[in-house]
Amino acid sequence: MRIEQCQAWHIAGRNLGQKAIRPLGKGARGPRVRNLQRALVRWMPTWKGKLAVDGEYGPQTAAALAVFKATYGLGVDGNSLDPRTAEALRAVREGTWWRGQARPLANGQVYERARKHGFPFDIEHRLRQLPPHQLVSCDGFPMQAATALRWLDFRERLASEMPGFAAFLTCTTGGTHASPAHAEGRAIDCVVEDPRGYPVTLEESWLVAGLAEASGFSVFNEYAHDSLYKTGDHLHLEAPAP
Ligand SMILES: [Zn+2]
Repeated sequence: MRIEQCQAWHIAGRNLGQKAIRPLGKGARGPRVRNLQRALVRWMPTWKGKLAVDGEYGPQTAAALAVFKATYGLGVDGNSLDPRTAEALRAVREGTWWRGQARPLANGQVYERARKHGFPFDIEHRLRQLPPHQLVSCDGFPMQAATALRWLDFRERLASEMPGFAAFLTCTTGGTHASPAHAEGRAIDCVVEDPRGYPVTLEESWLVAGLAEASGFSVFNEYAHDSLYKTGDHLHLEAPAP
C-alpha cells in the first residue's frame, strides 16, 4: 500500500471510525455519504461502477451497505451506517479483518502510519474479539486470528530476547507442506535474519525455535533439517487447531 492511499484512508476514516458517529441512512447526502461510498467500493470491488460515489444515500448505497454488513457478520437487518458497522469498516481498512473480497494489507506498515497519525490502535485487543479461526491479515499474510496472536507474541519475544534479530513471514495459507495447517491458516513459514542481514546460524535457529515454542507454536526447524525435499532455510510454525 502506498503512503498516499493510506492517508486517503485515514481522512476517509476520520468520519467513519469515530465513536461519536451519527448514524447515516436513506436520504442523507454530503461528504460523509461520499466517504462511506468510497469505503464500500474500495472493499467490495465488484460494486465499482454499480455504486456511484456521489454523496447521495440512495437505494444502491443501501444495498451495498447491506452486502457489506452481511459479509462481515454485522446482521442483515438494517442497511444504514451504525457505529458498529463504521467500526467494522475501520477494522477492514486497518487489515485486522479479512474475508472474501477485502484485500489483505501489509499490517506492519499500516500500523506504523496509524500510530504516526495518532490513530488509536490495539491489534491484540481486536484479534481477541474475533473467533479464533477467523482469517485476518497480519503483516500482509492471511492467517487465523489465533495464529496471528501467537505470531505477534513470538515477534515480541524475539525482539526482547535477541535484540536486532527479526522474523519475516514468507508463506502462510499458500504453504506446500503436507500438513493441512497451512491451508487452514494455522501454519506459517518465516525466516529470521540477524542485525547485519545475514541468515541465522544453526545454533541461533534453535534459540529462535525455542522462542516460537514459548509463544505456543509447534516448530519444525528447516534450518536444521537436511532433506532432498527441503524448500529452503526457514521455520515452520504451527498453531494447534482452535
Ligand atoms: Zn510450512
